[in-house]
Amino acid sequence: MDKALIDAVEPVWRDIRRTAGVDLRIADEPYQDYPRHPSAMVWDTDGTGAGFHTDLEASPRERIAQVADQVQEFVIEARSAAGLPSNWPPCPVHPDRHPLAPTASEPPSWTCPTTGTTVAPIGEFGSAAPE
Ligand SMILES: [Zn+2]
Repeated sequence: MDKALIDAVEPVWRDIRRTAGVDLRIADEPYQDYPRHPSAMVWDTDGTGAGFHTDLEASPRERIAQVADQVQEFVIEARSAAGLPSNWPPCPVHPDRHPLAPTASEPPSWTCPTTGTTVAPIGEFGSAAPE
């Protein structure tokens, strides 16, 4: 898999493994041929999958936020299929209203889409606060 794509997916993958509660896997299976847009697949155990890609013209933090956004959609579908609450990662202030939104800030972060409040860097959601 392209190094830039690995670097872009690694943070959201850490959050998935720690907190998403679904057993997904990433496969080095490009689904498109655009030369500056490396891609791969994420698969659920039930055989459903989705592609994700990055854009080599984007900055590293934009890539992290873009890939988090794409993979988050599939996590939400996978959780729904597993009978889990679909809002992942849940907004701590509005847990019944929406998931957090990936933002290409420095560092790239999960934010509340209503208030814009940063909750955690992507890759550190649900881990101990770095105080
Ligand atoms: Zn919120």
